[in-house]
Amino acid sequence: MSLMFASPVVTPTVGAFTFSSRRTNYIVMSAVRSNSTSLCPVLTKFQKDCATPTPYLREVANAIADDMRAGLAVEGGGDLDMILSYVDALPSGNEEGLFYALDLGGTNFRVRSVQLGGKKERVIATESEQISIPHKLMIGTSEELFGFIATKLASFVAKEKPGRFRLEQGKKRELGFTFSFPVKQTSIDSGTLIKWTKGFNVSGMEGKNVVACLNEAMAVHGLDMRVSALVNDGVGTLAGARYWDEDVMVGVILGTGTNACYVEQKHVIPKLQSKSSSGTTIINTEWGGFSKILPRTIFDREMDEKSLNPGEHLYEKMISGMYLGEIVRRVLLQMCEITDLFGQFLPVKLSTPFALRTEHLCKIQEDKTDDLQMVGSVLYDILEVEASLEARRRVVEVCDTVIKRGGRLAGAGIVALLEKIEKDTKRMGSGKRTVVAMDGALYEKYPQYREYMQDALVELLGHKLASYVAIKHTKDVSGLGAALLAATNSIY
Ligand code: ADP
Ligand code: MG
Repeated sequence: MSLMFASPVVTPTVGAFTFSSRRTNYIVMSAVRSNSTSLCPVLTKFQKDCATPTPYLREVANAIADDMRAGLAVEGGGDLDMILSYVDALPSGNEEGLFYALDLGGTNFRVRSVQLGGKKERVIATESEQISIPHKLMIGTSEELFGFIATKLASFVAKEKPGRFRLEQGKKRELGFTFSFPVKQTSIDSGTLIKWTKGFNVSGMEGKNVVACLNEAMAVHGLDMRVSALVNDGVGTLAGARYWDEDVMVGVILGTGTNACYVEQKHVIPKLQSKSSSGTTIINTEWGGFSKILPRTIFDREMDEKSLNPGEHLYEKMISGMYLGEIVRRVLLQMCEITDLFGQFLPVKLSTPFALRTEHLCKIQEDKTDDLQMVGSVLYDILEVEASLEARRRVVEVCDTVIKRGGRLAGAGIVALLEKIEKDTKRMGSGKRTVVAMDGALYEKYPQYREYMQDALVELLGHKLASYVAIKHTKDVSGLGAALLAATNSIY
């Protein structure tokens, strides 16, 4: 076990202990506090600050709805960008032919081929491959990155078994391109990069059309293929899920980050240029950007200050997988400093940002044993600390507080979307099933998070409307969705 303090100082006085936020000045009085552990002021305050009672959640849902409306009215009108996806035709099931998907959004990219056989045969064959991107390409030039992708795509196509996949005579290969970085979309098959995120910093790209970059690279590398649709991963999820279930109206991602997309009536989108528009389109809300009236604690503030985008994406920072473990770590750290959570020592690991991950919280909350053995072993493995039963209980409570707040706030966001849909369509009111397609490991693997989200949904929507809502976990359908959107937007 590695310890923070070489020689803890035990003061002889009884009474209030001295504490300075500079840990080097920390004075430990274990003799005084060893048997006074039943109250934990840090935890009590944290729980109070994180509370999301129904009336407050209602305010959050309303505030999100207000920002949705503001974002639909004018560009930059609210915290939510409400990006027009240019996806007007959703998959119907009638799509036929061979189409491809390319997903670029992290340290790996994925390629997929899909042979579509129309309503009856549906997906006749599909193949996919995941390729990791060498780090030097993530910070190199756009020619290098897209050249690498085009080469890998070409060899993926070269491996195709002619019996399984067939391109109709006279047709060119078409691709749906999922590019999970901030993009200003200008049509279904063009968009300019706003900025790189997630460790990417490829030169010569900002402000450039990402579709043109890929098309050019494919041409240079002799691959006869073109991008027919540029697709956000939430939009891909909605489209892929819609292919199997026509009641899908919303697509939500709850993974490392978060986002939501939904089917909107064109006539209620003031910022849409063509005024004669009828029918529907998909709006990419970029809801992670919502930042108003959220229950921010000192821990949220400090994490935000240290983040790459301080003051922004505060909703994402409370509900998505990247941040939940880090919030817990910060609370535990203060509990160690102020109330001796783990005895007189402060585990070094607890001072390492992002040492505690959401996966660990999930493991901690899985523990159903009386003596919280699994909690003990997670704490031992990750933080290198031997925690008493009392400490383990407190750790569980901190995790639960963060997960409860996150799940309930995510639920409030979904309600804002569902109510917006309901206002213009009256679907649920007329008894029509409405499906939210959900992707992302946070939702998939964290049962407590799911339950808290569901509770919020029912509390805000009421039992009757909620009974028409189905949240459907649709893992990895965004690739299929992108290929389908290439089909719907085929120019051949
Ligand atoms: P991405 O969002 O990057 O496309 P995923 O959907 O796989 O990828 O989500 C990954 C995120 O999900 C991780 O960053 C983590 O926060 C969360 N996560 C992964 N595994 C678990 C788990 N077992 N329990 C809870 N959360 C998890
Ligand atoms: Mg994902």
